[in-house]
Amino acid sequence: MTTDTRFEDLGLIAPLCAAVRDEGYVTPTPIQVRAIPPVLAGRDLLGLAQTGTGKTAAFALPILQRLDASRVARPGARPTRALILTPTRELASQIGESFSVYGRHLALRNTVIFGGVGMEPQKQTLRAGIDILVATPGRLLDLAGQGHVHLRELEVFVLDEADRMLDMGFIHDVKRVIALLPRVRQTLFFSATMPREAQELADVLLRNPETVAVTPVSSTVEKIDQEVMFVDKNDKRALLVEALADKAMRRVLVFSRTKHGANKIADHLTKAGIGAEPIHGNKSQNARERALAHFKAGTIRVLVATDIAARGIDIDDITHVINFDLPEVPETYVHRIGRTARAGASGHALTFCDADERELLVAIERLTKQRVPVVEGHPFEPAWSKQPFGRGPSTPRPPQRDDRGPRRDGPRPQAPRNDGPRPALRADGPRPEARRDHEPSAPRTGHPPASHARDGQRPVGGPTPAPGPGGGRRRRRGGPGGGGGGGRSFGGGGGGGFGPR
Ligand code: AMP
Repeated sequence: MTTDTRFEDLGLIAPLCAAVRDEGYVTPTPIQVRAIPPVLAGRDLLGLAQTGTGKTAAFALPILQRLDASRVARPGARPTRALILTPTRELASQIGESFSVYGRHLALRNTVIFGGVGMEPQKQTLRAGIDILVATPGRLLDLAGQGHVHLRELEVFVLDEADRMLDMGFIHDVKRVIALLPRVRQTLFFSATMPREAQELADVLLRNPETVAVTPVSSTVEKIDQEVMFVDKNDKRALLVEALADKAMRRVLVFSRTKHGANKIADHLTKAGIGAEPIHGNKSQNARERALAHFKAGTIRVLVATDIAARGIDIDDITHVINFDLPEVPETYVHRIGRTARAGASGHALTFCDADERELLVAIERLTKQRVPVVEGHPFEPAWSKQPFGRGPSTPRPPQRDDRGPRRDGPRPQAPRNDGPRPALRADGPRPEARRDHEPSAPRTGHPPASHARDGQRPVGGPTPAPGPGGGRRRRRGGPGGGGGGGRSFGGGGGGGFGPR
């Protein structure tokens, strides 16, 4: 089927097509096109997709249709016939809402159960009988243990965000839930990534599944102003503090490859006087929600996340994404930077690349078919950054103009410090101690982050001063990020995005 496919073409009944039309959906997303027909036909599904691809409708619509059809044959009784297991209460609520929206013209009941709130109202709702249950594992097991949830007549089981579920340590709970399910059932398994543990779980759960994988399209990337800074591994945290001196970085999502790394980065920023908290699978649900609430409220500027924890976080107003580490999988880069530039805002992504990560950068550039401009002349620029490493011929960046500062479109002064020795700052010079009282970096030929266009000295790791006149956001002339736009693009091997909503 093509991207011109309509919901009607997928075999969906009129009340469901009407509901998605009410929602303003014009065309189904790629995962919807590919998953809905086999799920309607009763097949198991392995869906490799993350939140934002339209995957909820991809399973909710066919489930609603199936349950609506069998409801006629079973008047009166109301056992739970579909269970959607999901790792967080935010996701559970979102999915529950989606079922209500898509099922608005049908007579099916759904409810959401999760922990951290009173059980009594949930028990009452369950007592009334519901068709579709959306749940987090812990509370589901509690309620099942008390005899309030009966899954013996379940027809469809959805395991959502399986990789995240495992990352959060829910594997035992998930297995206990699975033990409560009838053997004959339809199973839909969704995961954005397939680490070994997730694959093992999928192998146990699925029978002859249809596999559908959607990847983000690179058009998402084109709307984002991207830059890379070469830096030695040990200098990354100091560079992060430097970069964050730019007050235009109001709400920054920093990606760390590891949970431990995320903690260390957040600690370092906090010590430097920059409000930051980590969010990852080792944190309790409460700690994650607290960090998220602080970030949304602006109490902290920086949220330091692992890839898995960052998914499902729906925050529109992220001004910058910083890749503290490069991801191992190039597609992950696209997922990460897609967190900025949402809802029509222009997005910015900055990537710290150390010597060992250069190959990963090449892989990303190959995937996105774009060359990420390099910020030169920053205080932590290593000597090796000038050496070619397979990115093809270098394209010098055009002069930039500071949004708040004077225009600098004229020829830039030659910067002796890029070529000459920089005793206190050179990567090959004395290490951290020397860097603590480094010189300010102007003038320079390169295009440092706006944060460097400050006056005077500042000890690395010390409090962040207000930006100087040059401290505003930079803009690249004619770069791929100049298009503005924003909006959402959705994955699917180059398949189309969503229509207007
Ligand atoms: P999901 O990946 O399921 O979290 O969906 C992401 C967002 O896309 C949600 O806000 C949905 O309401 C929206 N959405 C899902 N399917 C479509 C569609 N076919 N057209 C437009 N928006 C959609």
